[in-house]
Amino acid sequence: MKIAVCVKEVPDAGPAKRMDPDTLRADRSGDRSLNDFDLNAVETALRMKEEAGDGEVVLVSMGPDRALESMRKGLGMGADRAVLVTDEAAVGSDLIATSKVLAKALEREEPDVVLFGQQASDGDGAVLWSAVADRLRMPVISQIAEIDMSGGEVSAKRQTEFGYDRISAPLPAVLAVSDAINEPRFPSLKGIMQAKKKPQETLSLADLGVGADSAGTAGSRTTVSALSDPPSRGETLTIEDDGSGAEKLLDYLVERKLV
Ligand SMILES: Cc1cc2nc3c(=O)[nH]c(=O)nc-3n(C[C@H](O)[C@H](O)[C@H](O)COP(=O)(O)OP(=O)(O)OC[C@H]3O[C@@H](n4cnc5c(N)ncnc54)[C@H](O)[C@@H]3O)c2cc1C
Repeated sequence: MKIAVCVKEVPDAGPAKRMDPDTLRADRSGDRSLNDFDLNAVETALRMKEEAGDGEVVLVSMGPDRALESMRKGLGMGADRAVLVTDEAAVGSDLIATSKVLAKALEREEPDVVLFGQQASDGDGAVLWSAVADRLRMPVISQIAEIDMSGGEVSAKRQTEFGYDRISAPLPAVLAVSDAINEPRFPSLKGIMQAKKKPQETLSLADLGVGADSAGTAGSRTTVSALSDPPSRGETLTIEDDGSGAEKLLDYLVERKLV
């Protein structure tokens, strides 16, 4: 079984997210790492391969060339190789353009399963997988909390606001896993050492037959017109709970006719 896992390099979780006032895009300077949510997808892929007893796990990403360093974490966990689409003309790609490029890279791989994390911690879109599935004309199951690959199809338990859905789909399929699905393994020292030697391919848009006008700002359908600080929160009240906290809170709400 061939499993492709889409992974993204994101700014480190620690610092507050910043926007660059010049480019009107997320400020991606500073320390970066592999999107935490994607580690659940890598772990899912490794378990699928282990259960099947055979197969290949390929990490696929679009990003700057330095993103290969972050992708090595997935290789250290056990993925077999990495493919990074990196091209100056892809800078500024929105969801539409990103999905176009990733779909082309995935078509080239012809995987049985395409895995995604639930969201990227910088964009927080939680939508890219559906756009890619649409382009690949594959079924998609998102927010997967449990997965079963027996019988040549995928059967998944999908988390919803009101409980769970049970969904089955034929392969090939796009699967976006929730962070509740597993506990990602840590790369072992041996894994980290081996990661450097595993195949790591970089592709340009031309390699994929994607025109420069289909990616980056030119291929995007959204524009950011302005940035501004969020409005101030106005008057705030801190209620210390000395035993009468609930009463004070209720008085506050009643006073403002909120209850
Ligand atoms: C005008 C505009 C300009 C933008 N410019 C840039 C830019 O220059 N650089 C940039 O990174 N983003 C840019 N973005 C954000 C861009 O839309 C997102 O990076 C992209 O669409 C993915 O969406 P997301 O991060 O919300 O992913 P989500 O939908 O939240 O991610 C879900 C899953 O998709 C996968 N995934 C997400 N992104 C990638 C990727 N790049 N490669 C492989 N797998 C991925 C991961 O598995 C992730 O868990 C821009 C957005 C707009 C509106």
